[in-house]
Amino acid sequence: MDKEKQEYDMNIIYNYNEYPDKVSGRCDNCGNALFKSSVSNYVFIRECRQCGMKKRI
Ligand SMILES: [Zn+2]
Repeated sequence: MDKEKQEYDMNIIYNYNEYPDKVSGRCDNCGNALFKSSVSNYVFIRECRQCGMKKRI
């Protein structure tokens, strides 16, 4: 994998513990600051409104 540019898989829900925000409150993939959030099984899921990257907070 290229170390400088990380590719994110939109079908995966990333764990915040393993992938903390590079810039707090912004999407790692596209830098967008608007998110859609949902809760499933008491876990908070944050989805980027622009690219769809998901993170488990
Ligand atoms: Zn994004």
